[in-house]
Amino acid sequence: MNVFDVVELTRQMIIENTISDASNLKLAELIKDWLKQLGFDVEFQIQKFNQNSITKVNLIARFGPRDREALMFSGHMDTVPYGDLNDWTKDPFTPRLYDGKLGGLGAVDMKGSIAAMICAIEPLVKEPLRREIIFGLTFDEEIGLIGAKYLVESNLVKPKFIIIGEPTMMKPVRMHKGHIYVEVVCHGSSGHASDPEKGFNAIKVASEAITVIQQFADELKMSKCLEINPPYTTINIGTIHGGIKPNIIPSKCVINFDIRPIPGMTSQSLISDIKGRLENIGTFENRPLVSMQATRIPTEPVSTDQSSEIILIAERVTGERAHGVSYGTDGSILQKLSSQILILGPGSINNAHKPNEFVAINQLGLAVKQFREITRLICITQEERS
Ligand SMILES: [Zn+2]
Repeated sequence: MNVFDVVELTRQMIIENTISDASNLKLAELIKDWLKQLGFDVEFQIQKFNQNSITKVNLIARFGPRDREALMFSGHMDTVPYGDLNDWTKDPFTPRLYDGKLGGLGAVDMKGSIAAMICAIEPLVKEPLRREIIFGLTFDEEIGLIGAKYLVESNLVKPKFIIIGEPTMMKPVRMHKGHIYVEVVCHGSSGHASDPEKGFNAIKVASEAITVIQQFADELKMSKCLEINPPYTTINIGTIHGGIKPNIIPSKCVINFDIRPIPGMTSQSLISDIKGRLENIGTFENRPLVSMQATRIPTEPVSTDQSSEIILIAERVTGERAHGVSYGTDGSILQKLSSQILILGPGSINNAHKPNEFVAINQLGLAVKQFREITRLICITQEERS
């Protein structure tokens, strides 16, 4: 007889506000309590941020033989902001059961998934484990995979397999794109608009830069990864700011764009390639016309081998073929710990990051069943391979 109910655990988690700018300590305490009841050793990796010392917590929980390569369940405890309250039928922190759904902020991204992991493991802790089971739950995934970075740096765990429970409708995902934010500054020289030749127009430089970026984007379409849609590395020019008034020659223009590299490409090579092309635009008074830098630490694409153990097991249990997705996960960071990353979780990503977020209750049930079956195959019944 199991004690935990997946809907009830999800409900309790939704009630805790863990929007990325709030502390996730209370939620972590709640999960810690549940995992301790199952016999896990639980520890917190605590970070304090900002002047007001907001406490952020990674939760690391371990159960079973420590000398064996482990299976780690991972998920992020934070959520995105709820946006405009008027767009919600009910308060985002009040769980709502309706039409076979459980609604609330974080229901599908990804508190329901964490609840399903815990419920999946519950009966297994009474069985003899061949491998250790770890929970590595992170903070602030939504604002730059921050908790995952601390988790990796801590060297506390080194799992062989990682399951990241982002919503995939319980269809296994083995690859996704990376993400690079880039800022380009175009320099010119100011002057009176009555004689444009007296200055150097930074917006004209920017238009050249945009042509270069667009050309690069077109070339990137040649390399394809057919399991992800769109199947090539994309570039989106998102913002452009330049000039002060129509009667002044603009001396500066700033462009921001976003690159989403497919597996097989590294952020480093992409950045140096585009940087070289932009720098070729030329110089003015011995200064480069264009300078470029990444504005956040880039995240790398994820790709787990089709024939790897975790993917084969997930395909067998779910009856679905592993595929790729265009959104990112903590996997970009956690792949430093393991080459066998599986992304698999209940509910649809289409219901995440929007008002009236919900997770389908039958998806939660399916997640409990399939997480349990995968864990059983990896940690209990599977024969040791060399
Ligand atoms: Zn998520």
